[in-house]
Amino acid sequence: MANDEILNPAAFADDAVLEDQIRPQRLTDFPGQEAIKEKLGIAISAARQRAEPLDHLLLSGPPGLGKTTLARILANEMGVDVKSTSGPVIERQADLSAILTSLEEFDILFIDEVHRLNHAVEETLYSAMEDFEVDILLGKGPTARSMKIGLKPFTLVGATTRAGLLTPPLRARFGDTCRFEFYSARELQQIVERSARILGVAIDSEGAYEIARRSRGTARVSNRLLRRARDYAQVKGDGAITGPIATAALDMLRIDELGLDDMDKAIVRTVIDKFSGGPVGLGSLAVAIGEEARTLEEVHEPFLIQIGFLKRTQQGRVATPQAYGHFGLKPPEPGQSNLF
Ligand code: ADP
Repeated sequence: MANDEILNPAAFADDAVLEDQIRPQRLTDFPGQEAIKEKLGIAISAARQRAEPLDHLLLSGPPGLGKTTLARILANEMGVDVKSTSGPVIERQADLSAILTSLEEFDILFIDEVHRLNHAVEETLYSAMEDFEVDILLGKGPTARSMKIGLKPFTLVGATTRAGLLTPPLRARFGDTCRFEFYSARELQQIVERSARILGVAIDSEGAYEIARRSRGTARVSNRLLRRARDYAQVKGDGAITGPIATAALDMLRIDELGLDDMDKAIVRTVIDKFSGGPVGLGSLAVAIGEEARTLEEVHEPFLIQIGFLKRTQQGRVATPQAYGHFGLKPPEPGQSNLF
């Protein structure tokens, strides 16, 4: 790490600023997601050699795994600018056309939540992606006419937490898809140690590992827990995050051994206690917990499914025997339940 990356923690106003400071800038600076990095490293070299833009790219996976970060890294590696927006924010075709016509050659347009574009906007994107042109409407009412405008070649990087919701025509226009995986505890440990170095926080390997293994496989969670452990170490210790300090800080935050927070626990306990282990539909579960169905589905469920606590079945969500075991409960006998 370069010395100039070691910044004074007092300079940071809040978590959002911190998050930007610790965002990796280059591919070599980005721990984990090895298969994606290898594939993109080759795509970048090839595009640069041919002096062409990168192919349009779809990044899919749960939130906080580095999709936005990777889009910015691609721009850095290609030596181009990135413009960022999000599916639900682009309300009208004209809004999208304005963004597209402002792009310089080979620039990257990053659209987060690309599965949430409205239909008219999505259709505008088709010709932009395929032929680098957009239809612009001139005038209003009966005299209005449309004109084709050529765009500079650009790369669309779309991110989605729900690749399955992409329409087939949009999906077909992406040259490749990268599926982000949850990080291993060892990878998250590297991420925590790297972030701590940038923030100027002293941390030992046990402290970093403890935060990493309780971060539900997610880089954003690791960085957040690091900041909370830093506060704890400053107030209750001498500022250094050791194994015992990290454990105490995470216990205080009520993050359990597997990294489950109160909401994760509430989801699993509700399926078990209120719906006899399931199956329960997403809507009923969301009402029972008082959380939005989309948040449950996109933020919480992927990890609970990954660790084998929840299953999605045709009839709804089902708690597994492992989930019962984690809470010291006995799963229903196979004869008593149609679940397993
Ligand atoms: P997403 O777009 O998938 O929701 P982000 O790219 O916004 O996720 O990443 C969330 C946070 O996690 C950012 O602060 C980013 O710096 C950090 N982060 C993500 N992936 C990595 C990684 N591989 N190494 C280091 N930090 C990462």
